This record gives sequence, structure tokens and C-alpha cells, in this order.
Amino acid sequence: MPGNTPFHGDSAVYKTLLESTKAIPWKIDWSTMTFAYIGPQIEPLLGWSQASWVSAQDWAERIHPEDRDRVVNFCIAQSQAGVDHEADYRALTRDSGYVWIRDVVHVVRTPEGEVEALVGFMFDISERKQTEEKLMALQRELETLSFKDGLTGIANRRQFDAGLLKAWEGALHTQRPLSLLMLDVDAFKQYNDLYGHLQGDRCLTDIAQALGSAAVEPHDLVARFGGEEFAILLPETDETGARKVAERCQRLVEKLAIAHAQSPHQQRVTLSMGAGTVTPQAGMTADGFVQAVDQRLYAAKQRGRNRIEYLPAVP
Ligand code: GH3
Ligand code: MG
Ligand code: MG
Repeated sequence: MPGNTPFHGDSAVYKTLLESTKAIPWKIDWSTMTFAYIGPQIEPLLGWSQASWVSAQDWAERIHPEDRDRVVNFCIAQSQAGVDHEADYRALTRDSGYVWIRDVVHVVRTPEGEVEALVGFMFDISERKQTEEKLMALQRELETLSFKDGLTGIANRRQFDAGLLKAWEGALHTQRPLSLLMLDVDAFKQYNDLYGHLQGDRCLTDIAQALGSAAVEPHDLVARFGGEEFAILLPETDETGARKVAERCQRLVEKLAIAHAQSPHQQRVTLSMGAGTVTPQAGMTADGFVQAVDQRLYAAKQRGRNRIEYLPAVP
């Protein structure tokens, strides 16, 4: 009978102990599949009275429909096999809500080895589940964050690579021009040596922000390519457009007027740039395009820095 104690001997002591825990004890007789006992704590948790837990069917019916088959089949199979087990599920409350429960089940056997009863504890694990859900939400946030560069907050190399492939495919399809700028801070090693690494970090962050405001079309992508190098992807942009953005970048960094005592260019931090425009054709690759623009950047360095070198227009 529900509410009666199944314990012999010091039963009053055991009962008091069991009914003062947070975990909810219960016992099911295997032969009749009925509750021999369930702790009174069940009522404050789920709202169903102690006396309303009569058969195993009552338990099964109070499991969330999405969890029910999985849990009931698992528990029956484990019990038949005589294996202790546990299951997490949402238990229905009397006011039609759900509480996450972890049911920990021990199989009691007769001396002959027959299954005689199941005893167990139900634990309220809703707080743990909430934490798990929060963790998963954070994980998703982290995934989007990992497209961002940790220092400057602009797109990172990973996002640039993904954006480049997408823009390349798009341009191949539409046969509209695609432009790319590769930018590298001049004499930045000296800058770090002069002002320290932290100041160097601040300098990179300020430059990243300036570059971000130089590319204004919704599909433009300003990314930190690595170290003190940046890349700006300009889909649907011809050479005239690319030149405008490149010159704007130069002006905006000029306007920042970051002091660099050893720079030959008015003792200010400057950028060198390679720029190029392409309308992709079959047989060309995005990597090949990046390399060609990077060679222009190298040429800008060779020719004195603080300048922009353009890829000759492809006929
Ligand atoms: P160049 O004009 O030829 O580009 O010379 P450079 O000194 O800028 O180029 P180099 O490649 O010799 O040095 C790049 C420097 O950029 C060295 C490296 O320590 C620094 N650097 C790269 N990433 C970071 C960063 O995240 N923070 C800081 N503070 N410095 C960085
Ligand atoms: Mg560099
Ligand atoms: Mg550099």
C-alpha cells in the first residue's frame, strides 16, 4: 500500500531518514508492478499526492511523451536483465508543467536470483539541466565568436577564408568583379620595440576599427589576416571602387596619427597595401588571386612602404 513502510526492524528510523532527504525514495513490487512505497516528498515536487502513485503505469503516464518510450523501454529491459540503472526524464507536474528527474534504480533479487522489486531514488535535476542548457547556449555563442578576432573584434582569418570562398563562387556565377585589399602595418616590429607590446595591441585595434569604417557595403568583409596584416574583401566591386576603399583606408589611418618615432613617414604609423580586382573564370582559384594581391603588397614594401600597389587589370 502506498505510504506504508517496506522496511523491517528499525523501520521507523529508516523511514524518518528516507523522508528527510531531498531525494525521493520509492519501491515497486516486480510481480504486481505496483508501488509498495513512495516518499511524501513527491507531493511538494510534482503536486501528485503520495496515494496517487499506485501502479507502474501511473509512473509511465507521468513522463513527458517525448521521453516516455525511451525511458520505459530502457528501465524494463534493464530491470528484466537485473541491472541497476538510471534514467533522466521530464516528469509531469499536476499543474501540467515538467520537472527534470534523475531516477536511480536498484534491482532487488530473491536468494534464487529472481527479480523481486525495484527500489530507487528520484532526484530533482532541473537546476543541473538549466545549467546544461545555458552551457549549450554559451557554446553556440562561442562558435559565432570564434569567427571574430579576439584582439580587435573584427572578422578573423577563419571568417575571411569562408567569406572569400563564398564571394569567389558568387562572382564566378554572376561574372561581377571581386576586389581584394591586403594591408600590412609598416615597421611594426620597431613599433613594438619602441612602445611595448600592449601599446602595439592598442595600435592594431585602432587600425582595425579605422579599416572597418573604410569598407561600407553590407557584403564588404574586413578581417585580421594574421599578426599585423589585414585583408578587405569587396564583393561586386570594380577597380575604381577598390581604389576608393584603399585610399580611404590610407587616409583614415593617417587621421589616427599614431606616433612612431622611427617611421620615415612623418613619424606616424602607416600601411602598405596590395590591391586587385578579378572577374573569376573557370580554371582560376581564389588562392591564386590572394597570392597575386599579396605579391602587390610585397611590391609596395619594396617600393618604400606607405603606398598602394595595384594588380594590373585583367583584360
Ligand atoms: P614591414 O614594414 O616590412 O611590414 O616590417 P614589420 O616590422 O611590420 O614586419 P615584421 O614581419 O618584421 O614584424 C611584424 C611584427 O608584428 C612582429 C610582431 O611581433 C608584431 N605583431 C604581430 N602580431 C602582433 C600582435 O598581435 N600584437 C602586437 N603588439 N604585435 C604583433
Ligand atoms: Mg607582416
Ligand atoms: Mg609589417
